[in-house]
Amino acid sequence: MRKPTDRCLLCEKDDSSKKNSHIIPKFLGKGIFEGSETNYGISIDKKGNIQKIQDIIKEDFLFCPTCEKKFGVLETYCALRLERFNQVRYSKNFRRYKNGEFEYIDCLDIDNNIFNLFIYSIVWRVSVSNNYAFGGFKLSSNNEKKLRVILNSHLETTQQELMISIEDMKVLPDHSHVMIRPDKKMRPPNSMMSGRFFKQRYSSAYPCRLLIALLYR
Ligand SMILES: [Zn+2]
Repeated sequence: MRKPTDRCLLCEKDDSSKKNSHIIPKFLGKGIFEGSETNYGISIDKKGNIQKIQDIIKEDFLFCPTCEKKFGVLETYCALRLERFNQVRYSKNFRRYKNGEFEYIDCLDIDNNIFNLFIYSIVWRVSVSNNYAFGGFKLSSNNEKKLRVILNSHLETTQQELMISIEDMKVLPDHSHVMIRPDKKMRPPNSMMSGRFFKQRYSSAYPCRLLIALLYR
């Protein structure tokens, strides 16, 4: 169990006094409660105990308040752009094309470096999380460290600073990643949140109706 006096996992400098940090950004996870008549989710711990929940997975004492704010700035930028995906008036912001069975969607008004940083931030948080739902997902300490370093050196507390900071960002060359969403709603369960690691190289996180897949070279 982590304590508020433990070092923040991102900056490794300040105390991790922040409570209720989301591992998966709230805007990606909110679909977990949609379409359910009961309006609650179910969390299962490793002993099989079932608990009703009304918010997505949160954890205490992972980060300091400043680092938590930095994740918030990144998420606000991405939420604003990615959530417009289903809104007709923003359809010109997305380019859609088909290739075989898959439909590809390019978000044209999102900065590539910020999008990569966003994926890094989710994958890294799922990896450092102590929550049982993400217990099946753990990057090697070397890969975890690389993600921490790039996040810590580019995340900022304002969007203006973030835009400057990512100008010289170099994406990590050792893996590829992709975000996949199903064409139709999954039922049942409506959606789920977890992470898995397969055969050392391929890992995936399921924020909610979405799959983030990583392939290490
Ligand atoms: Zn910190």
